[in-house]
Amino acid sequence: MLNLLKNRFGFDRFRPLQEEIISQALLGKDAFVLMPTGGGKSLCYQLPALKMPGMTLVVSPLIALMKDQVDALKANGIPAAFINSTLSPAEIDRTQTEARTGELKILYAAPERLANPGFQNFLSELKISLIAIDEAHCISEWGHDFRPDYRNLKILRNIFPGVPVMALTATATEKVREDIIRQLSLGQAKVFISSFNRPNLSYAVLPKKDSYDQLIGILQAHKNESVIIYCFSRKNTENLAADLREEGFSALAYHAGLESGKRKKNQEKFIRDEARIIVATIAFGMGIDKPDVRLVVHYNLPKSIEGYYQETGRAGRDGLPSRCVLFYSFGDTIKQQFFIRQIEEERERDNAYKKLNQMVEYCELSACRRRHLLSYFGEEYESEKCGGCDVCLSPKVEFDATVISQKIISAIVRTGERFGASYIIDVLTGAKNKKISERGHQKLSVFGIADDFSKVELRNIIGQLVSKKLIAKMGDEYPVLGLGERGKEFLKNRENILLSKPESGAEAIRKRTAFEVDYDRELFDQLRLLRKKIADEKGVPPFVVFGDLALTQMASYLPQSEESFSKISGVGEEKLKQYGKIFTEVIRTYAKENNLEEKNIPAGKPATARRAIRAGSTYEETKKLVQQKMSIEKMAKARGMTPGTITSHIEKLTSAGEEININYLRPPAKKMEKIARAFQKSGGSALSPVREILGDEFSYEELRVARMFLKS
Ligand code: ADP
Ligand code: ZN
Repeated sequence: MLNLLKNRFGFDRFRPLQEEIISQALLGKDAFVLMPTGGGKSLCYQLPALKMPGMTLVVSPLIALMKDQVDALKANGIPAAFINSTLSPAEIDRTQTEARTGELKILYAAPERLANPGFQNFLSELKISLIAIDEAHCISEWGHDFRPDYRNLKILRNIFPGVPVMALTATATEKVREDIIRQLSLGQAKVFISSFNRPNLSYAVLPKKDSYDQLIGILQAHKNESVIIYCFSRKNTENLAADLREEGFSALAYHAGLESGKRKKNQEKFIRDEARIIVATIAFGMGIDKPDVRLVVHYNLPKSIEGYYQETGRAGRDGLPSRCVLFYSFGDTIKQQFFIRQIEEERERDNAYKKLNQMVEYCELSACRRRHLLSYFGEEYESEKCGGCDVCLSPKVEFDATVISQKIISAIVRTGERFGASYIIDVLTGAKNKKISERGHQKLSVFGIADDFSKVELRNIIGQLVSKKLIAKMGDEYPVLGLGERGKEFLKNRENILLSKPESGAEAIRKRTAFEVDYDRELFDQLRLLRKKIADEKGVPPFVVFGDLALTQMASYLPQSEESFSKISGVGEEKLKQYGKIFTEVIRTYAKENNLEEKNIPAGKPATARRAIRAGSTYEETKKLVQQKMSIEKMAKARGMTPGTITSHIEKLTSAGEEININYLRPPAKKMEKIARAFQKSGGSALSPVREILGDEFSYEELRVARMFLKS
């Protein structure tokens, strides 16, 4: 199986549970697979499909995704096809013939086909060895994405008695899980549940203040990377996309109200790396499976933790470090409540309030966010801190909150434990509003006694007191604050209490360096261009050629022979044959140009996420000299290195986000202009073409230094 994994898919090791699930299928037994997005579900049926005698039938509701999956399989030399409404009758005919003659190993089909007797007939003629049901939660009305067509799947059990069924999903609560098992008669199935932790994702919640400027800052740090921004309404998405375009970002809107051709085009551009940013309502995402989304922003508050986790799950499917940022304001909560109030059915409305409150709780958390998310899905995270969320990354400063806590609790008690946080905060800060004066609360001793705290701070402190059970939050629609289990004792015993100082998470995210990966960004960019060119020629999305992980490894180990290239993750026999030569050629040229050598690729070891610049490292030494404003020549002499090496250190330092001032190295304006024009003309950021344009007038080092300024 490992051979098959390497030769056909180019991978060295199985991800957790994959091997067990595959074995189950090969034994001819049913399986129920619950794995987070990006966990590697597809491989669980694609690999056994190659080993089993007949064909594997895959049912998926995601029509747009089918083509990508099939393209990806074909790129690995695996005979696969799909049948859905995007094909012409002639194309369907051709595919059916291929299936009948046994040419195909994997066939994808949309669920609505199964209702068609003609299609059922066609299926019954086939030798099917395995049936995979992707997005299995769509069969359940209890899920968040019910598709009536999925009810057709029951027919498959009748047409193919005894053929093993594998149901796969990334989202299923206990209830939905039971429903899937019942409806697909999976009572005998072995259940595989993998951890929902996504270690390569970092989470942050930022207060929604100057959010637009903050967003721009974050996007600049993710230049050239794929980003999804989720907004509340269609109008929001269009306005934000237009604003971002004005700032020079390639951003497109996506929502269900767009004319379908336009929607498809925008999605396609995103998948093909032609638009970097998609600004979307939650309608976006189901139909795409882009593995290299590096950042997911929630510009408005999501409606539920399930939804939020699924949307953030679209980041970093390829396992590389990626970020999830949510902008939170209380105003958004109010907006959501307004919409929930319009829901007529009572049960549904209550449920919506509950989900929203859970979301708010997550945003106001002062403990590890990952831990909280996982516990929401019934999983216990192994430690208190994850080191990958804003709470864990920004060391909290504690302060003596005894007095302010007493004040807050008194205000709750004095007003009769009948009001929500907003009202209590108004009382504490001495707000002059009608509601307060009508009730005479401006006469209470607690009125205006906390005006040394801002509303945002008070809300944060209340959140902490709730999680410490000094305050209780009751009711869903209009949560009311009351004395918590531990509140009475606290008041009676006059205990002291320490809380973490409310601060903005913006700092935390700016400081964030823990998720950098060690590779040559310049070479990565060149390989990315090459990938894009090939993808366009073949009419497939770039990630079908190679994923970012493969490019990252290439840009990290610089493989130049066929043998070492084949060790890169994602390089199987077919891709080695197709792309080995052209990719190693680019790597060889680059290595020569920059005086770099190939590095040993540890078998089966991916480039790991780690801090790019370590204290005491060689880069750190160069950094010290930069701080003394030395020229490149002087630094080279002082360190006994070539100017080229020193320049590459500086590039590394700046691209790793180190705060160093290199302005003193900026070439004079005239030179700068000339070089800039040459880069523009070359259409890329590679040095050789620029040197060709400019001739010998500039050295490679000068060009590289200039390039740093062009980038920032
Ligand atoms: P899911 O369907 O669970 O969201 P996918 O099947 O799309 O996940 O897989 C996510 C990514 O992980 C894909 O890019 C896939 O090629 C990659 N992948 C899957 N299995 C492995 C493995 N064993 N080693 C390395 N990469 C893998
Ligand atoms: Zn954490």
